[in-house]
Amino acid sequence: MKKLALHWKIMLGMVIGVIVGVIAVQFESGPGLIIDWVKPLGTIFINVLKMIAMPLIIASLIKGLSDLQDISKLSILGKRTIGIYLVTTVFAVTIGLTIVNIVQPGKTINEQTRTELEQAYATQADRTRSMAQQAQEAGPLQPLEDLFAENVFASLSDNGNMLQIIVISIFFGIGLILLPNEKVSIVKKFFDGLNEVILKLIDLIMLTAPYGVAALLAALVAESPSVDIFIALLWYALCVVLGLAILVGIVYPLLMRIFTGKSFGFFFNGIAPAQLVAFSTSSSAATLPVTMERTEEHLGVDKEVTSFVLPIGATINMDGTSLYQAIAAVFIAQAFGIELSLTAQLGIVLTATLASIGSAAVPSAGMVMLVIVLAQAGIPEAGLALIFAVDRPLDMCRTVANVTGDATVSMLVAKSVGKLGEPKVKDWDDHYPKIEN
Ligand code: ASP
Repeated sequence: MKKLALHWKIMLGMVIGVIVGVIAVQFESGPGLIIDWVKPLGTIFINVLKMIAMPLIIASLIKGLSDLQDISKLSILGKRTIGIYLVTTVFAVTIGLTIVNIVQPGKTINEQTRTELEQAYATQADRTRSMAQQAQEAGPLQPLEDLFAENVFASLSDNGNMLQIIVISIFFGIGLILLPNEKVSIVKKFFDGLNEVILKLIDLIMLTAPYGVAALLAALVAESPSVDIFIALLWYALCVVLGLAILVGIVYPLLMRIFTGKSFGFFFNGIAPAQLVAFSTSSSAATLPVTMERTEEHLGVDKEVTSFVLPIGATINMDGTSLYQAIAAVFIAQAFGIELSLTAQLGIVLTATLASIGSAAVPSAGMVMLVIVLAQAGIPEAGLALIFAVDRPLDMCRTVANVTGDATVSMLVAKSVGKLGEPKVKDWDDHYPKIEN
């Protein structure tokens, strides 16, 4: 295993995980065994990644901002980041809408399949709907209000508060920029050192990634619903996968190539481990530590940029999710025989963009926010039950797109402010000689 690059090791882990899962489901007691003895290993892997995410955001954001030296640089970085994020998201929704209108997957769902799916997934769909209701009932400025915490420690205690922590860290960083260096140099050094330690811990966590993803995938196979349902929803799932493949395989690499001049191989070699972890965990937030390490050390993006662009991207830039929401909404409308006018579809562009920004970076969040897109477009929310069965695999794929989008934008922003250099690490084995045995 020593010579193999990390992404190959992770892929091997995934294949082994799927094989173990498939073998297990052949036996009556197999799934139970996997859930009792293998799934916890995957959960530990995700937990450790999530545990490191908050400290990483704080240390790297404060360190990155304190390096900026003046506020005008922060404002340039902020505007470019948000601007490019918005453009890529709207573009993603448009790709989704184009595909779903051409393929029309909803037309393949007959009355009987629709009723079966509605009955089978009614309870889960209700649960998702009631989760979405809270978001719907909130006032228009609630998301803005939620950005500002009243207690630092309360925010720190919940990973769902990542945006609050980002705001607090930016605020703290601004304070550091505004003070003369001699007064705050010790604080800067502290965050610098803390950041180094956290990055080292991520290196260590990544050594266990092949095992972690193997456990996650084995558990996923052991718990997945029957294949028949997948077949009924094949066209819908294929549309989503096609859209995501266009984003990840064509749009991002081309953008990266055109604006930074780097090669496709360089890009994919650098980002692949983060994509595989995103696929296995279905969470951009859990993947954030890996995304940051890979973009910084393997894609050559300066810490100043990654520390600002990536944590914000993980929480607000979800191109994969917005593309999926557009396809899912139109698919459900088609399955219910509802014709959507051009205006209604333009409305979907707007709501899917906002809903993806509002989606948390955790598994299934995109589906919860889909309820809002459906409600705005007048599509029956009961349709959620139709797509439940295949949501997890699609969630895995859209998280890959979300993470790849963040990494791409960080390269573009870095290039535009002259902060894209040569990567510190060209090969996995160069990076970990002392801890590998
Ligand atoms: N799981 C996705 C993410 O973390 C969000 C979603 O459900 O679409 O990026």
